[in-house]
Amino acid sequence: MQRDVQVTVVGRVFKPNKSKVLDLNRTLNEYFRLVKWYLSFNSKSKNLLHKSNYEEAKRLFNLNTALIQTARDKAVEVLKSFEENRKEDSILSLNRVSIRFDRRCYSFSKTTNVLTPYWLTLSLSKRKRISLPIVFGERQKQRIEEALRGEWRFSTVEMVKRNGVWYAHFALTKTVTLIDNPETIIAIDRGEVNLAVAVAISRSKPEKPMKGRFWRGEEIKRIRGLYNHIRRKLQEKGRTGKVKELKGKERRKVNQQLHIIANEIVAYAKQFPKPVIVMEDLNRIRRKFKKSKRLNRRFHNLPSRKLQTTIKYKANLEGIEVRYLPKKETGNTSKTCHRCGYVTQVKGRIFKCPNCGMEYDRDLNACINIAHRVTSSMGWGSREPPEPADVTGGVKPQANAGNPIRKGWGSSLAAISWISLRE
Ligand SMILES: [Zn+2]
Repeated sequence: MQRDVQVTVVGRVFKPNKSKVLDLNRTLNEYFRLVKWYLSFNSKSKNLLHKSNYEEAKRLFNLNTALIQTARDKAVEVLKSFEENRKEDSILSLNRVSIRFDRRCYSFSKTTNVLTPYWLTLSLSKRKRISLPIVFGERQKQRIEEALRGEWRFSTVEMVKRNGVWYAHFALTKTVTLIDNPETIIAIDRGEVNLAVAVAISRSKPEKPMKGRFWRGEEIKRIRGLYNHIRRKLQEKGRTGKVKELKGKERRKVNQQLHIIANEIVAYAKQFPKPVIVMEDLNRIRRKFKKSKRLNRRFHNLPSRKLQTTIKYKANLEGIEVRYLPKKETGNTSKTCHRCGYVTQVKGRIFKCPNCGMEYDRDLNACINIAHRVTSSMGWGSREPPEPADVTGGVKPQANAGNPIRKGWGSSLAAISWISLRE
């Protein structure tokens, strides 16, 4: 199976002269007006908007025809996302927009100029073309070099103006071949105490989960705590400008940690034969809770959604497919005993099954449930039938079941190996 993987590489426009900045600003204003104009038709059909308004748009707006088309696409996207996330009695207001250039209206190349080798040429209108030098950070530069070598395809460039500075967001695409007929399910659960938990289930022995691993994300919690503290101090002193600046710094540091964890999760998956990663789609969960402000904030604050995208991207690059749990399968993953299927309330970090007596780390139990729901739908053989304790008498409560896992929790990002408790 083939899949397109997309990545965005951000570069900064390096010291543009005044006339180029004026051209960009003028184009941004015109483009913004055009997106709003398209929005005024209140239509989500690109075709319809094109047929009835394209000629008019060409006449009214002094923009390259390719830009007229991307503005139309943008208007449709804005409208769709507004309707999806709509809260009661809210009205659509567009505050800002970035300019999307597709392959027809930009070119990008590397020159021999040592100081600023990367140049982006934009076609703004019929008569106006400008060339801008772009600078990249180290990691971004590696990606863009890969793209120049042909490892990635250039798709669009979004020109973004932030705090008076212009940035170019390059969308790069690569087609990867994903592993067919998976042999191992890698289930990932994400939560607040453990940022991520992984467990593997093999096709040949679906009843026996393997090598549970925990990522507590302690470094992320430390970074967040630290920045919260600094922010409070600054707010007391009324320095709100500085607070904003810190937000970006904090985000970059957290993202760096998420990259490390995602790399470890993909490496974990790769040790098994023909892996496929399975997790819940947190974006969907968030949409479900959009009405509740408190929950919404909680989900928004968790770096789990960002982790989800990062895992997916890195896994796909390694040929590993990421599947989301089907909607009807997402209920009660944390409240169900993975051994006997009994549903109960969980208190604390240990799942205690009143039915079969199993005691287990609560996140790991949820994770195994996620895996089981997929294995059964893939026809990997059913689990053992439920064994109520009072019937068989043979299933003993496992008092120490949680201990081998908990012992290791002190070691932050390093994961802990764990052996199946069902031997
Ligand atoms: Zn049970």
